Amino acid sequence: MKRVIPLFSLLLLLIGLSSCAPASEQTIFAMDTVMSLRAYGKEAEAAIQEASTMLYDMDARWSITRPDSEIGKINRSDGKAVKVSDDTYDLLSSALAAAEQFSGAFDPTIQPVMDLWGFYSDAPTLPDPDALKDALDSVDASQVALLEDHYVVAPAEVGIDLGAVAKGYAADQVRDLLLSRGVHSALCNLGGTVMALGSKPDGSDWIVAVQHPTVPSAYLCTLAVSNMAVVTSGGYERYLEIDGKQYHHIMDPSTGYPCESDLLSVTILSESALYGDILSTSLFVMGYDAAMEYWRTSRDFEAIFVLSDGSVCMTGGVENYLSSCEEPCTFVK
Ligand code: ADP
Ligand code: MG
Repeated sequence: MKRVIPLFSLLLLLIGLSSCAPASEQTIFAMDTVMSLRAYGKEAEAAIQEASTMLYDMDARWSITRPDSEIGKINRSDGKAVKVSDDTYDLLSSALAAAEQFSGAFDPTIQPVMDLWGFYSDAPTLPDPDALKDALDSVDASQVALLEDHYVVAPAEVGIDLGAVAKGYAADQVRDLLLSRGVHSALCNLGGTVMALGSKPDGSDWIVAVQHPTVPSAYLCTLAVSNMAVVTSGGYERYLEIDGKQYHHIMDPSTGYPCESDLLSVTILSESALYGDILSTSLFVMGYDAAMEYWRTSRDFEAIFVLSDGSVCMTGGVENYLSSCEEPCTFVK
């Protein structure tokens, strides 16, 4: 049995950088992924350093595997109230609201199921059906209560995993921090959750490439964006290998198995990376028809879907951002 986690997430490649102003850059490893921060301007270096420190700090507070993290403390609290920091409380409340909105597809209390499969250890295991049923019984975000003064209560059997939203929340925080430090041109890739702040120093759009879900190290398309988050969820991105078979990391909360929708990947373009992260996971689980239905009613994001037959469908507005595409694609209005 083998656990496979690519060191360098090739989810999104960043290309097309500008020439004139010198860039400040840092690459760090946090939240179990490689993150690259690039910013321009005289405030950039100090701001990027501060952003890196913030990302390490978020990782320390939201890590599933560190027992002293705030999430670790809630998961080991045995039902007792745990006081958490401002942004943990804020992120938890967004995650719980998303679970209500995308009930059946998105649930941040998926931790017992992830644990059973061995996603947090070096021992991937095909879960025993009875154990999986027990774990599934405790997947229920409505059991988590957010109380006054930043106290959180979760029953002993409930476990929180913020993996589907943490990078999105963090990307929004990085953007806000950079802006508050006077940086207006930056491109940050938090392991496939991309935040394009402003535009390139020469005023042109950032070019962000979307990973091809079936051709490793190739890209599906490139997008020209500014002031925009681009977030992708795909089954190819992180998976376990058990007896020669691959099991990816996005779970169907109704079965406890990796979700088998008709989608290979979902890429969301939205102003908020947190919203993009919630949507990319939820729509992936919901499948193409339900995802399009959601888009038609909300119209507050754009999306690129790669279906399991290899076809590529994009919401109509993506046409405004698409700078190249390697596959035939259909725009849906
Ligand atoms: P990534 O984190 O690789 O960018 P996602 O944003 O789609 O991908 O999040 C997947 C992660 O979210 C999993 O690794 C797990 O921690 C958690 N997760 C898995 N399935 C679900 C689900 N149905 N709802 C909420 N969180 C989930
Ligand atoms: Mg997500």
